[in-house]
Amino acid sequence: MVLAQLGGSISRAIQQMSNATIIDEKVLNECLNEITRALLQSDVQFKLVRDMQTNIKKIVNLDDLAAGHNKRKIIQQAIFNELCKMLDPGKPAFTPKKGKTSVVMFVGLQGKLCLHPHVGSGKTTTCTKYAYYHQKKGWKPALVCADTFRAGAFDQLKQNATKAKIPFYGSYMESDPVKIAVEGVERFKKENCDLIIVDTSGRHKQEAALFEEMRQVSEATKPDLVIFVMDSSIGQAAFDQAQAFKQSVAVGAVIVTKMDGHAKGGGALSAVAATKSPVIFIGTGEHMDEFEVFDVKPFVSRLLG
Ligand code: GDP
Repeated sequence: MVLAQLGGSISRAIQQMSNATIIDEKVLNECLNEITRALLQSDVQFKLVRDMQTNIKKIVNLDDLAAGHNKRKIIQQAIFNELCKMLDPGKPAFTPKKGKTSVVMFVGLQGKLCLHPHVGSGKTTTCTKYAYYHQKKGWKPALVCADTFRAGAFDQLKQNATKAKIPFYGSYMESDPVKIAVEGVERFKKENCDLIIVDTSGRHKQEAALFEEMRQVSEATKPDLVIFVMDSSIGQAAFDQAQAFKQSVAVGAVIVTKMDGHAKGGGALSAVAATKSPVIFIGTGEHMDEFEVFDVKPFVSRLLG
C-alpha cells in the first residue's frame, strides 16, 4: 500500500467509526484493526503496529470517557499522536552550524535489497541534494567519494557535483576508502568548507567485511553526523538492516528517498525505530532540488488528510 493510500485507509477507518451511533469497544476495535491492517500492508513493522494499538487502547478508555466527551475526537487525536510518536525518536539530530566545520557521513544499503535490485537506494544522489540544499543557504559544502566498491560511483558524484558547482574529491586509482575519505576530509578542512560530506559504498548486514570497512571510515573521519539513507520501497527488511547499521556506526539521522514513487513508505517508520534517529529530509524525485525538510506533524497531518 502506498503512503497516499495508507492515509486514505486510516481516514476511512476513522470516518467509519464516527458514523457509528455509539462508539463502543466493538466499533473502536474494528477501527483499530482496520488501521493495523493498513499499516502492515504499508510494511510498518509488526511490533510497532501492535504497540501502537495497545497504546491507543490504553489512552482511549471508553468506560472512563464521560458521555459528554467527544470520543471520536479523542480517538482521532490518539491515533495522530501515536503516528507522530512512531516517527519521533524524542531527540533531534545533530544540526551542523554554518561557518563551523562539520563532517557528515552517508551510509546506506546496496541496491540488492531495494525494490529494483539494479538500482541503488539513492545515496549518492542524496549526498548532492544535501550539499546543494545547504549551498543555496550560503554554506560551503564539499563532497568526498569514498565509494570504491561500485563502478561509476565516483563519476556519478563528480558529474552531480560539477553540475551544482560543489567541490569534490575522489580517486579512480585508490581502492582504500579509508584513505580517500581521510584525504578528502583533510583537504576540505584546509579549504575551510563548513559541510564536508562523505559518500560511502552501499552495503547490507550480511556483508561483515563491508560493515567493518564502514566502521573504519567512520573511525578515521570522526563524522559529526552519520546519515542512514533508505529507499522508501525497502519494506519489511528496513528494521533489521537499519538496526545493523546503527550497531556498527553511530547513525544519527535518516533520509528516506523516492517518496515520490509507488513505495509503501512504512519502512521509514521502522528505520526511525531501529536507529532511534529522526528522519531529517525526504527525497521526492531524481532532480537535485527534489528534496524536502521532514517534519513529523505536518507529515502525519497530510497522511491523515
Ligand atoms: P546509490 O547507489 O545508493 O548511490 O543510488 P543513486 O544515487 O545512484 O540512485 C539510484 C537511482 O535512484 C538513480 O537513478 C537516482 O536518480 C534515483 N533517485 C535517487 N533519489 C530519488 C528520489 O528521491 N526519487 C526518485 N524518483 N528517484 C531517486
